[in-house]
Amino acid sequence: MLQPIAGRVAVVTGGSRGIGKGIARTLARHGVRVLIASRGEDAARGVVDEIRSAGGTAEHVVADVSAPDDVPHIAEAALEHFGGIDILCSNAGIFPPRSLRELTAADIDEVFNVNLRGTMLVVKACLPALERSGHGRVILTSSITGPVTGYPGWSHYGASKAGQLGFMRTVAMEVAGAGITVNAVLPGNIKTEGLADLGEEYERTMAAAIPLKRLGTVDDVANTVVFLASDEAAYLTGVAIVVDGGQILPESLAALEG
Ligand code: NAP
Repeated sequence: MLQPIAGRVAVVTGGSRGIGKGIARTLARHGVRVLIASRGEDAARGVVDEIRSAGGTAEHVVADVSAPDDVPHIAEAALEHFGGIDILCSNAGIFPPRSLRELTAADIDEVFNVNLRGTMLVVKACLPALERSGHGRVILTSSITGPVTGYPGWSHYGASKAGQLGFMRTVAMEVAGAGITVNAVLPGNIKTEGLADLGEEYERTMAAAIPLKRLGTVDDVANTVVFLASDEAAYLTGVAIVVDGGQILPESLAALEG
């Protein structure tokens, strides 16, 4: 049983759907007050309503993490609504597939600006509030794709996700003196709205390649985030936790079938 984190304040970027929505709902279930940031408003409002109906506390802010002028508004909104930030989940991300042959500089910029630069700017914007928290937690949603595995069509995405870990390791040292930890979750294939866009055939093939024989749920990732946000995880920093049902383990098809 973890020590309660009720009453703390979390910012969850990309909290309007998918993994971020799962993180927001699960943190709220633990009594954490949650600010959701996303570009769209309707879905975010839906998550806020869902959390409030379940007895939790949530607000949302419209912000594009790839727009440097938008990002400070995320930290400002958390201060305005809740007076501080204890937990930052930098989760907003995009994964449009493009083979290297077709990849343009604009494609690379689009993915890097959301996934990598967006993460860097959000952490920077929330840092003063996290320093005041006394138990600041930064949790990045990276991926197995890039840091551990490769997948044709996602070279730019994989580079952005591996880049998040490079950023994490140095920042973890820069902020350790303030008692802030910086860690990452590396999801495998998680059933989300974004993944559904890749089609049923993709989901079926991926499930067959996972030793636990199912795609992950957003709760599988969210439960790991709750642990990293807890007091019990205070001595973990600069760590990347794979949440993938064993997906990265098989070294061959035979190993998977055996
Ligand atoms: P998703 O279902 O497509 O949801 C993405 C969320 O991010 C939405 O709330 C979206 O809201 C928000 N978002 C996207 N671009 C944004 C921007 N520029 N500024 C602010 N918010 C933005 O995606 P997901 O599958 O849950 O993925 C979430 C994270 O997990 C990503 O970082 C992804 O790389 C990572 N991940 C996912 C999987 C998987 O299997 N699903 C596996 C490994 C890693 P708006 O569109 O309204 O902005």
